[in-house]
Amino acid sequence: MSFYNNNVITKYDLHSHTHYSDGHLSVAALIARAIEKQVDVLSITDHDSVQALEEAHDYIKSIGSEIQLINGVEISTKWHSFEIHVVGLNIARKNSDLLTLLAAQSQKREERAIEMGRRLAKQGFEEVYPHAKALAEQGQITRAHFAQVLLERGVANSMQGVFNKFLTRGNTGYVPSVWCSISEAVAAIKAAGGVAVLAHPGRYKMSNKWLRKLLDEFSGVGGEAIEVALPQQAPCERQFLGQLCKEYNLYGSQGSDFHYPMPWSDLGKNLYLPKDCQGVWHSWEQQGARQ
Ligand code: AMP
Ligand code: MN
Ligand code: MN
Ligand code: MN
Repeated sequence: MSFYNNNVITKYDLHSHTHYSDGHLSVAALIARAIEKQVDVLSITDHDSVQALEEAHDYIKSIGSEIQLINGVEISTKWHSFEIHVVGLNIARKNSDLLTLLAAQSQKREERAIEMGRRLAKQGFEEVYPHAKALAEQGQITRAHFAQVLLERGVANSMQGVFNKFLTRGNTGYVPSVWCSISEAVAAIKAAGGVAVLAHPGRYKMSNKWLRKLLDEFSGVGGEAIEVALPQQAPCERQFLGQLCKEYNLYGSQGSDFHYPMPWSDLGKNLYLPKDCQGVWHSWEQQGARQ
């Protein structure tokens, strides 16, 4: 627990990745870091995967820590021309509807990765797929793995540079996605008893008009929260997203979207909701955290 204005406040970080997707840390290392950063409630939200969760519960028990783990997942969806990420929190991790959807998404990731490798090879970048696959190990393969391989080959001097040159729409290694729809993702999360959160709304490069259209649809199909607070945001964004929560009657969530430590972003860093924004954790007050 950390103390603020003499009140005990709980530190929530409800968005993080392990090496079961494109996070760089093992489950144990991620949890150890969260404890070091005094996070009280952590959600692991790997891309299209719940593989980390059993190991995470076991690890927390084995070290006797009081950190609370919220079962999570981050599902990639397709909406118009956008790739929208939907986070599911406090899900029953063995739910068959959810696992069926995740298996299909995983298959799509694999097929897309093979096609990305093919397209890159045609342009003279040989063997990128097998190397990316080796980096992903037993986890979900993502564009971040391709970016890492290409970065090591010196094709650009930053991850951002590699994405801009090779992995975004209109470039050699980009393969249009075939993810599930927002309503399919929300339905699977709800079938698993979880709450669906619209992830990082500020990152979709869409106008406010489109964002409102997205929120109409997201809340219309049963989405219940917006990710309002991230460690690094444009000024006023947090306030604006807090207002949208009120307007659409949605909970607010907060999370670092941790992949690896960065100077400006880390587990539990700079995460708080604007006043009057109701934390998404109130949605699971009744049933408590699922195992
Ligand atoms: P995927 O879900 O396979 O399309 O991969 C998307 C992942 O790549 C995101 O979750 C980020 O971790 C990472 N990513 C996407 N765009 C960028 C970027 N411009 N720079 C660095 N990482 C990125
Ligand atoms: Mn990622
Ligand atoms: Mn995301
Ligand atoms: Mn994420």
